[in-house]
Amino acid sequence: NRQIVVASLPQGTLEPAHFELQDVPMPTPQDGEVLLRTILMSIDAANRSWMQGATYRDAVKAGDPMPTYAICDVVKSTSPRLSPGDIVAAESVWADHVTRPAHKVQKLPKVEPLSHLLSVYGIAGKTAFHGLMQIGQPLAGETIVVSAAAGSVGGYVGQIGKALGCRVVGIAGGPDKCAFVTDALGFDACVDYRAGGVFKALRAACPDGIDVYFDNVGGDILETTLGLMNERGRVVCCGAISQYDTTNPTGPRNLPGVVVVKRLRMEGFIVMDFARDDAKATRALQAWVAQGKIKVTEDIVDGLENAPQALIGLLNGDNTGKRMVRVGAD
Ligand code: NDP
Repeated sequence: NRQIVVASLPQGTLEPAHFELQDVPMPTPQDGEVLLRTILMSIDAANRSWMQGATYRDAVKAGDPMPTYAICDVVKSTSPRLSPGDIVAAESVWADHVTRPAHKVQKLPKVEPLSHLLSVYGIAGKTAFHGLMQIGQPLAGETIVVSAAAGSVGGYVGQIGKALGCRVVGIAGGPDKCAFVTDALGFDACVDYRAGGVFKALRAACPDGIDVYFDNVGGDILETTLGLMNERGRVVCCGAISQYDTTNPTGPRNLPGVVVVKRLRMEGFIVMDFARDDAKATRALQAWVAQGKIKVTEDIVDGLENAPQALIGLLNGDNTGKRMVRVGAD
């Protein structure tokens, strides 16, 4: 049984040397616990932000196994709630096997493929749906801009926006990702922020201004986008990946002035805040997938030992769609 711990906390950018793969004894479930075998682990930008200090959860400290949201199957159960072979979602760690209290894991349907439980019907799809619907509240015909548009959350935000009849403009790094966002995901336009001149390019792509900005990155891109918002626009503060892997945070410098003058609403959220509406999100996403309006994009890396590089790569933009690590067979 293997696990990966954060051997030391990064001062600047995250590197493989900050992790250590360890052999540890197979855990034994105590009363009321289950032994879980990891099948898929979600790799999230948030993994890096948890290393920066306490957030909506405890900080990850040196020596801790890396926390993760995982899809697992039950190997042994001492609880009547779960049986061997059940598929569950669990707050877990980067490891082959873990034990968890049975009441803390969620039994899931055996959908095909299981990876959809982490992508479109998991954190990515739900974050996109809840953030856009509850905070962005777009109306048909409005313009939505979303950053990290070729990533997991961003890709679903834009596709939901198109399904709702909005004009959708992405922001992504590099010409290949921008082509993917327009050609494969069906966005109306995509701005390559690595090419520079983001303000001009975004202004050209949004002739009617921006009504909803779904922000996944923060920093300079947030500053630029705020400058193009329409009056009474909504800024969905989902994340700030440009600020996670650096000791040098930047921008935006136009706050709060731009919010006042344009009567903007900026509101943050954590996907769990809207858990009461998860079933509604799943139904809507299932319908859009069935109608071909949402394409499921996944980026699966094989092998527990490759989890550190999968996270480092995500922070540097080498993923397209929802990144996850496959630890065990379905
Ligand atoms: P993604 O799949 O979106 O991948 C992250 C992408 O971010 C990369 O592919 C990269 O794409 C882009 N990126 C990296 N660095 C920068 C930068 N400096 N400036 C601009 N873009 C950058 O990852 P996640 O789905 O895990 O996360 C996306 C966002 O959603 C994060 O901010 C995360 O914290 C947030 N989130 C929030 C949740 C909530 O409940 N509020 C839940 C889940 C995620 P590119 O090549 O285009 O640069």
